[in-house]
Amino acid sequence: MSATGPGRTPFIAGNWKMNKTVSEAEEFIAALLPRVSSVQGVDVAVCPPYLDLQAMVDSTRGSRVQVYAQNMHHAAEGAFTGEVSAPMLTELGVHGVILGHSERRELFGETDRALQLKVPAALAAGLVPILCVGETEEEREAGDTERKLRHQVQEGLAKVDSGRLGDVVIAYEPIWAIGSGRVATPEQAQEALGFIRALVADRSREQAQRTRVLYGGSVKAENAGELLALPDVDGALVGGASLDPAGFAAIVDAATPA
Ligand code: PEP
Repeated sequence: MSATGPGRTPFIAGNWKMNKTVSEAEEFIAALLPRVSSVQGVDVAVCPPYLDLQAMVDSTRGSRVQVYAQNMHHAAEGAFTGEVSAPMLTELGVHGVILGHSERRELFGETDRALQLKVPAALAAGLVPILCVGETEEEREAGDTERKLRHQVQEGLAKVDSGRLGDVVIAYEPIWAIGSGRVATPEQAQEALGFIRALVADRSREQAQRTRVLYGGSVKAENAGELLALPDVDGALVGGASLDPAGFAAIVDAATPA
């Protein structure tokens, strides 16, 4: 059962990363939709690779499942070989976009400077950005978690108008918990998410109450209930466990308000 704050709808998003061909995605969504059709009071999203987006938008039309991309360029168009823009996503019917995932930061050189442009560009195009932040194990051990989160949140939101801060979803994903089977303890998760909300409140107290902050990192059906019950946890960004329709639906169930 979720303990999301007043006015904040719990949100469960599945990041498929570079998994599922179009036919595999179709098979997944056919199995997921009946499992979540009676769910109420939870926003549900799948975040497939670009090539699956059109098929997933078509297959989820009229359902409660929204489709998000995993990245985008800040510019609307231009000489940026291999990139995809916000208007390209919105024209397809994509609802939002993950930005600054740690794999993009670590493996593909995504910078806070680029995210400063991407987050407002997504909002301006009508997409819901999910801004990912989180510390490495070394940073946590060195007592640097808050410094890292402060830097990433402040940089990522720097060019977002104060009045729109609540439209940005922030995902706290400790890098040591991603794909590792190691989950943050409830204390670690609550402390980090509360800190992130306080950082948004430094810009606008009112908007910080609207901002949905998600936990990500080895969330599964078995541990989702405990994490989602924490006061500042408004949902989850789920990687590996989002690839299986039954497991993902069970996490959505765990987020359903009583
Ligand atoms: C992720 O990569 O966003 C993620 C949370 O992965 P996993 O659930 O597999 O740890």
